[in-house]
Amino acid sequence: MDLKLKDSVAVVMAASKGLGAGTARVFAQEGARVVMSARDEATLRATAERISTETGAETYPVAGDATKLDDIARLFDAAMTRYGRIDALVINAGGPPGGTFMAFDDAAWMTAVEGTFMNAVRAARLAIPIMTKQGGGSITLIESASIKHPIDGLILSNSLRLGVAGLVKTLAREVGPAGIRVNLICPGAFLTDRVKTLSEASAKRKGTRLEDELAERAAASPLGRIGDPEEFGRACVFLASPAAGYITGAALIIDGGTSRAL
Ligand code: NAP
Repeated sequence: MDLKLKDSVAVVMAASKGLGAGTARVFAQEGARVVMSARDEATLRATAERISTETGAETYPVAGDATKLDDIARLFDAAMTRYGRIDALVINAGGPPGGTFMAFDDAAWMTAVEGTFMNAVRAARLAIPIMTKQGGGSITLIESASIKHPIDGLILSNSLRLGVAGLVKTLAREVGPAGIRVNLICPGAFLTDRVKTLSEASAKRKGTRLEDELAERAAASPLGRIGDPEEFGRACVFLASPAAGYITGAALIIDGGTSRAL
């Protein structure tokens, strides 16, 4: 199937590692020009160069914080200055810290709101006028399978991502007439630094080992394994591509069948 991404422009936020990097790599494999952001410039540049070398596609690293309005504006300005359009935007950021309800005070909640909800509001608000003017585009938000199946010990993520789900469903109806599709992609367990960190913390709490935690996550899926970030990238890029032209306001759960929620 042709995803119709050749020479299109994709902006992938928080893309130096993990799911964002897996997504950027697949966009590049499909012939898109990929603008990538993350805070640590050296890691971002190294990932962008590696993807470019592996795929022959053009990557453009622009360092910045995916939650800060000025940095998001700078990222989109850089994409527009170089390419004049943004066909696909993938909104992503590092997830909030793990922990149970009593562990977080107001300041911690407000930091999580900034990083896990307002980042999406800000990025969408800046992208929509660009996409409206150019006649359409896609916005895909990386969230979590926890919107269907809350995960113990992730109270901040479980709470705030449902707000993003409401935002996306509503926004898809508002901007559909402008040719803009808005979707959620919701990962279960993929082997990234974040999952290793969360699993290490869980192992410490339970007095087990990292390998035991990872094995438990793998066993929770009927496929018996944790996902690979590039598998995530393939689903995310499909959703963001013109090949998914009639999909909007949707939440694609990609968790290897772990969740039993319908
Ligand atoms: P990861 O492996 O820790 O990678 C995070 C990436 O995002 C890095 O490139 C990091 O680079 C960048 N980043 C983090 N905060 C940023 C910020 N404020 N501004 C710009 N870039 C930022 O994480 P991941 O596993 O790919 O997770 C990505 C998202 O998916 C998170 O929201 C996570 O909660 C969610 N999720 C992941 C899984 C999973 O299985 N992996 C499951 C459910 C949900 P810098 O640190 O240099 O900025």
